[in-house]
Amino acid sequence: MTDDPILSVRNLKKHYPITEGILSKQVGAAKAVDGISFDIAEGETLGLVGESGCGKSTAASSIIRLEDATEGEVIFNGGGRRGRSRDENGDHPNDVTKFDDQELKAFRRDAQMIFQDPSSSLDPRMTVGSSVAEMLLVHGMTDKERRREIVEDLLERVGLEADYYDRYPHEFSGGQKQRIALARALVLNPEFIVADEPVSALDVSIRAEILSLLNDIQEEFGLSMLFISHDMSVVREVCDRVAVMYLGEIVEIGDTDEVFSNPQHPYTEALLSAIPTPDPSVDRENIELKGTVPSPIDPPSGCRFHTRCHRVIQSDEYDLEQAEWRALLTFRDKVQTGEVDPESIRDALSPEDADPSTVDDSTVKSQLRVEFDLPEQLSDTSAESTLAAALDALAESRTEDANEELSAFSTPCEETEPGETDHGNGHLSACLRNQSKVEGEPVPADD
Ligand code: ADP
Ligand code: MG
Repeated sequence: MTDDPILSVRNLKKHYPITEGILSKQVGAAKAVDGISFDIAEGETLGLVGESGCGKSTAASSIIRLEDATEGEVIFNGGGRRGRSRDENGDHPNDVTKFDDQELKAFRRDAQMIFQDPSSSLDPRMTVGSSVAEMLLVHGMTDKERRREIVEDLLERVGLEADYYDRYPHEFSGGQKQRIALARALVLNPEFIVADEPVSALDVSIRAEILSLLNDIQEEFGLSMLFISHDMSVVREVCDRVAVMYLGEIVEIGDTDEVFSNPQHPYTEALLSAIPTPDPSVDRENIELKGTVPSPIDPPSGCRFHTRCHRVIQSDEYDLEQAEWRALLTFRDKVQTGEVDPESIRDALSPEDADPSTVDDSTVKSQLRVEFDLPEQLSDTSAESTLAAALDALAESRTEDANEELSAFSTPCEETEPGETDHGNGHLSACLRNQSKVEGEPVPADD
C-alpha cells in the first residue's frame, strides 16, 4: 500500500455562517470552499491556483486544521500512518478532520504551513535562532546545545548563515525572512508543507530565488507540497500538477504541462492568457477577465463561472457573435441587479446647467450600447429586436419591462451544473462544453 497518496482531500467544504440580529440567527452561509477533492502523491507538489477570493486560503487552513471543516475528509497518510484502511462505519483512521488532541499534535509536526507574510510567523522579540528552535522545544527536545546545532545547520541549508542565529527578524529583508520561515517549517522534519502564496509579498527580483530554494528543499527533504498561488507563471515553476479553483470549486486539474498546453476550462484559459509571454511573436488570444470573483454567499447558479465566461454557451434560438452573446448576458445581469442607471447617463451627457431631459432617448440608448460593449446592431435580427425593446423600456425608466424583455436571453450554463469530464491521465475539467463533446452532442459554436 506504499502508493497511497500522502494526502487525499474528499468533498471538503468550509461554510462560514452569516448571522443577523442580536440573537445571531443564521441567515445564510459563505461557501468559501464548496466540495473540493484531490490527491497529493508522495514527493509531489500540487498547485492550487485561482484569483483572490476563490477560497484557496480557506482550503489550506481547513486541510491543516487551523479551522474546522464543515464537511468532507482530509486523509493524511504521512507520519507512519500508511496502509490503514476504513473501519466498519466507513470512517478513516487518518482523517485529519476527526483527529483527537494527541493525533493533532503529531500532525502538527508532520505537516507545516508557510504564509505569504513571513513576519507573521516570526516573533519580533525573539532571535531568529530561538524562533526556529522553539519548535523543537515544544516537541520535546530539551537539549539546548543540540537544538542550536540543528538550527544552525538548517539556516545554512536555506541559504543563510549559521551566525544569524542570534540576530532579530527586523535585521533581515523580506526574502531572508521567508528563508527563516522556511527553516522554521522544516525544523521538525515534516513530510508535507502547505505554502500559501509564499512569494506574493516578495520583491519580483527575489521571487525566482525563493522558488528555486523551495524546489531544492523539496527534493532534498523528500517533501510533498500544496503550493498556493494566484499566479499561473509561479505555479509553472514549482508544481507537478495543478488544480484550478473558482468560487469554492475545482474547475480543472491535471499535470502542469498538460494544463498549460491544453487547458480545458475557459477559466484556466483566461488565467493563462494573463501571463505575459516573453516572445512577442507568440500570438496568444488575449482573454480579459472582467470584474471580480462573485460572493460565495449567493454563488451563480449552474456553472459558477458563467457570469464571466468568454465561452458561455449560446441558446439555440440565436446566432450571434460570441462576444455579442457575452455582452448581452452581462447587460441582462447588470440591469437585473439594478446596476444600470439610464438617468445618470442622461445627466452625464447633458451639457452643464442644461436640463438633462433635453438629452433624447436615442442618445442615451447609444451610450448604453457603448458602455456595455453592445454593437449598434446585433448580428442576429431577433436578438436585436429584443434588445432594442429592452433599451426603449430602460430609456423610459420602465425597468420591469426591460427585465422582462432581457429574460428572453438565457444560457444552459446557468441552468445546469457541469459534471466532470475526463481528458485522460488524471486531467479533469468541469465545463458543459466539454461534457457535450464527450457525449457526442453537437458542440455549440463559440465564435
Ligand atoms: P483566497 O485565499 O483564494 O483569496 P479566501 O479563502 O481567503 O480566498 O476567501 C474565500 C472567500 O471566503 C472570500 O469570499 C472571503 O471573503 C470568504 N471568507 C474568508 N474567511 C471568512 C470568514 N472568516 N468569514 C466569512 N467569510 C470568509
Ligand atoms: Mg489567500
